Amino acid sequence: MSAIITNQEMKCYNPATGKHLENVPISTSKQIEETFLKSKSAAKSFNLSTISQRKTLMNRFRKAIVNRMDDFIQTICSETGKKQFEAMLEVMISADLMKNQSKHAKKALASEKRSPGIYLHKRGKVEHRPFGVAGIISPWNYPLILTISPVAEALLAGNTVVLKPSEQTPLTSILLKKIFDSIADNPDIFQILPGAAETGKAIVESKYADIICFTGSTAIGKIIAQSCGERLKPCILELGGKDAMIVLEDANLKRAAKACIWGGFSNAGQTCISIERVYVCESVFERFVELLKKEMANLTCGPNPENRVGAMTMKSGLAKVKAQIQEAESKGCAIYSIPQLEDATRFIPPTLVFDPPEDLEICSDETFGPVISIHKVEDEKEAIERTNQSQYGLAANIFTKNKRRGRKIASKIQAGMICINDALIGYALAELPFGGMKDSGIGRVHGLEGLKAFSQQVSIVENRITLGKEFWWYDLSEKFHGTMKKIIRFWYG
Ligand code: NAD
Repeated sequence: MSAIITNQEMKCYNPATGKHLENVPISTSKQIEETFLKSKSAAKSFNLSTISQRKTLMNRFRKAIVNRMDDFIQTICSETGKKQFEAMLEVMISADLMKNQSKHAKKALASEKRSPGIYLHKRGKVEHRPFGVAGIISPWNYPLILTISPVAEALLAGNTVVLKPSEQTPLTSILLKKIFDSIADNPDIFQILPGAAETGKAIVESKYADIICFTGSTAIGKIIAQSCGERLKPCILELGGKDAMIVLEDANLKRAAKACIWGGFSNAGQTCISIERVYVCESVFERFVELLKKEMANLTCGPNPENRVGAMTMKSGLAKVKAQIQEAESKGCAIYSIPQLEDATRFIPPTLVFDPPEDLEICSDETFGPVISIHKVEDEKEAIERTNQSQYGLAANIFTKNKRRGRKIASKIQAGMICINDALIGYALAELPFGGMKDSGIGRVHGLEGLKAFSQQVSIVENRITLGKEFWWYDLSEKFHGTMKKIIRFWYG
């Protein structure tokens, strides 16, 4: 188990070992109200802070996190059951994002001059202003990255933040808050509210939360979208995926096989952009599968530090993934897994499922475990069609040695992020916006877009030359009426 949730507390356990970690109290309604009031009050000055003040704060925060890297690795591993190198990558990607977003905050958020167009005596500019208080709700699968990424962007954009971490992994956020308090002049700028669904709901519904950023499942994302819709509250929704990989006949098959098992099995497949479906051109199918099996022979899955693949964090996830494999098996699909180690009941060994029919759950629903379905396709056209038939559109991966062909295929794929000859890496490139199409979400984090997403755009117009009156005001003369018609015909006709 990872956490047992009661009305009062979250009893946290290490999913890989079953060891009890800590009990964390669930925030009460009074604490929720008080936290928001403090956040609103802190927002009065923080909303007006300069970009360079926020940048200084973020740099201090980043350095303090890096100083405590080992504590983060240990905490992340203990509450998720993932492996040390995976937790270390979390720290690195988080620190890189904080560094990049701080560096680019000015470019994204400083006021911008805009052309006045035909109104030559006017001057226009856009200001990017914070919303006020940002409510952030995060999932358990990457408790540091998926928390710090929206938190850093919201703060850099000048918002104060109230965060609710996943009830399955509150400890990483508690550590994060402790570190923030040690470096911030005003700790109320970033606060956390540990809790489960009810606490998340209270944040979304709070009259003090001016924008919501939610990362989690599509099902809960839709509930949040509805609640925000009723309140006309802006929301960024980073939701589930069912990502595909396309392997063309001209691909570097060795690289594709290595990328496939990394993309599908790292973090035990519990990554929103995990590779879950692979479409392989028939002429290279047998060879590709052979290479996958060869790569998988180097993997072990279990609780020992030397095992490469970690635990299933959630008990419910374990049951769901097993059910998907069993359904495919019962329909006659061939299955290939690495051996299951003894005493590893909380682990699912990396598994390939061959050619499951598209109506099975393993093809349509998110799996969120170390399982990849491998499909033989006739050609590129079929691979694109089947990639796009999913309700999700988070990310996709294309393998071909022909760069132009790769780019052309990318232009036809319905997904928010596409990697050519690589897997997952697009998320780590902090300057690239990240987010989904279709059921995978609304809005973007990362990049200039992620900073702007936490800001409201305000347009300001002033006179470059102030005239006694404007041409279009009420006392427009008949003569000028005619002149304007001429201008319209000349300029736009
Ligand atoms: P989840 O939707 O169950 O929970 C996410 C968060 O929402 C948790 O903090 C939870 O307490 C909270 N929550 C639950 N009900 C709520 C409600 N009614 N109102 C407000 N908050 C509520 O998701 P999860 O199991 O924690 O995470 C796994 C899912 O997240 C997967 O579907 C995965 O694909 C997705 N995910 C998406 C991204 C992305 O960037 N697109 C990244 C990671 C995970």
